[in-house]
Amino acid sequence: MSDTSIVDNGKHYVARGITLVAPADEAEVRAALMLARRAGRPVIARGAGKSQGGLYQADGAVILDMSKFNRIVDIDADQRWARVQAGVIWDRLRLELEGHGLAVASSQSYGVFSVGGSISINAHGRNIDVGVVARSILSIRVMLADGSVVEADRQTNAELFSLVLGGLGLFGIVLEATLVLVANTIYRCRGVSIMQCTEYPGHVARSVLTDPSVHFHYARFDIADGRLWERLYTIEYFQDAELAADALPVLTGPPRSAWFEHCVGWLIRRAAWARRIRLVGEAVYRLDMKPRRRSATVREAWSVVDHTRRPTADWLQEYFIPRDRFMDFVTLAQPILNEGSIRILNTTVRIIHKNTDAFLTYARQDSFAFVIFFQQTLDQASIRRTEDVLRRLLDCALACGGAYYLCYQRVAEPAQLAQAYPKIGAFFAAKRRYDPDGLLINEFYKQYAPAFPLETETAA
Ligand SMILES: Cc1cc2nc3c(=O)[nH]c(=O)nc-3n(C[C@H](O)[C@H](O)[C@H](O)COP(=O)(O)OP(=O)(O)OC[C@H]3O[C@@H](n4cnc5c(N)ncnc54)[C@H](O)[C@@H]3O)c2cc1C
Repeated sequence: MSDTSIVDNGKHYVARGITLVAPADEAEVRAALMLARRAGRPVIARGAGKSQGGLYQADGAVILDMSKFNRIVDIDADQRWARVQAGVIWDRLRLELEGHGLAVASSQSYGVFSVGGSISINAHGRNIDVGVVARSILSIRVMLADGSVVEADRQTNAELFSLVLGGLGLFGIVLEATLVLVANTIYRCRGVSIMQCTEYPGHVARSVLTDPSVHFHYARFDIADGRLWERLYTIEYFQDAELAADALPVLTGPPRSAWFEHCVGWLIRRAAWARRIRLVGEAVYRLDMKPRRRSATVREAWSVVDHTRRPTADWLQEYFIPRDRFMDFVTLAQPILNEGSIRILNTTVRIIHKNTDAFLTYARQDSFAFVIFFQQTLDQASIRRTEDVLRRLLDCALACGGAYYLCYQRVAEPAQLAQAYPKIGAFFAAKRRYDPDGLLINEFYKQYAPAFPLETETAA
């Protein structure tokens, strides 16, 4: 145990007076909950600690570092599922599954996040066949605030299951999860197309969503000064049934593109010319028709975005926009981004299918996710400016009937949160029911829950 402060991945939210505990089994998790309860301190779980919204932080909290919960409990290759402890990191699971000819059904493209952290924010990747992570979770084993352990799935303890998916760690400590696996089949890039943004929704409707062999897709905007978000390239990977998966070597080490991403990242931070040629240069580079396994498709190297030694931070913000409002959001957001208050390093667009497995879902409808990655100077004036920009962008998203991702900067006003997540009042009310003493608490809960009184549970 150590008493200290911790800062989040965006180097912004600091929690003071925390005690970090790394339990190795369920008895130690329970003991930590009981000790914290007696001491009147909140508890919150931390997976890989990569979220940016103070989600695994609270002043004075006991933080459960789940990294020792790293056992792959069972893999059933015939039935295609894996049971893993919540602290397992995706890259480790991917490597293990390679030997079975299998891959995870849904995860982020970076492999450094934990299964528990990904379940708790209901992550999504660039795969469009399965959709969000919640859809690939068969069951979970959770320790509630009172120390009891329950199994939950879509039939048993179904409400709890749905609350824990995307539940930000507020309903219990996820101990284990059973995940859907798929065959680690071969994919090829179908091509890279550069187009005006106006053409993109039509392209997706015509060439992506109608082709069942396309399992991975994303688009990347032009970020050149003066041309921001005007053009984009799109890229699709289709399943190549002709090639046997064992024709390729087993996945090891970082993705092949890591060196290229490093160079691009370094240059676009420094040179306007690099930002100008990035779209075309990268589209050409990505046009790599070599076959790859599912586990290696659109995999990204964390080292490219890990800037722990920099005086600045890279922040993310993400907006989910109904598919038919894509251009409305672009048109509303462009003038705000063109003011130049934030230095955008990247914007990708992903396809999100409607999914309501998670109680507090961001995927209330078929959407496009706009993932904005930008460089942030950490002085207070710059942070205030950025927060203002992010709130205005959120207004644009809300005007289009959209939502935003809860694992990044916590800048939304309570009214904006309520508009993005109409079930937030019911979510907090359920939280109070499952954890009446408020043991499992993070900064998100402390900031927003007081704005949503108890009686709103009837809204569920
Ligand atoms: C550079 C970058 C790229 C990203 N790309 C993507 C992306 O492509 N797609 C995407 O969806 N997201 C993406 N994210 C967001 C990322 O998926 C989330 O932040 C995710 O929560 C990180 O997992 P983690 O293990 O680090 O979770 P943590 O940050 O450790 O925790 C996140 C939340 O989960 C809770 N939690 C963690 N473990 C448990 C547990 N065992 N039981 C209960 N609660 C738990 C925590 O309390 C906290 O509320 C990205 C983030 C960064 C910084």
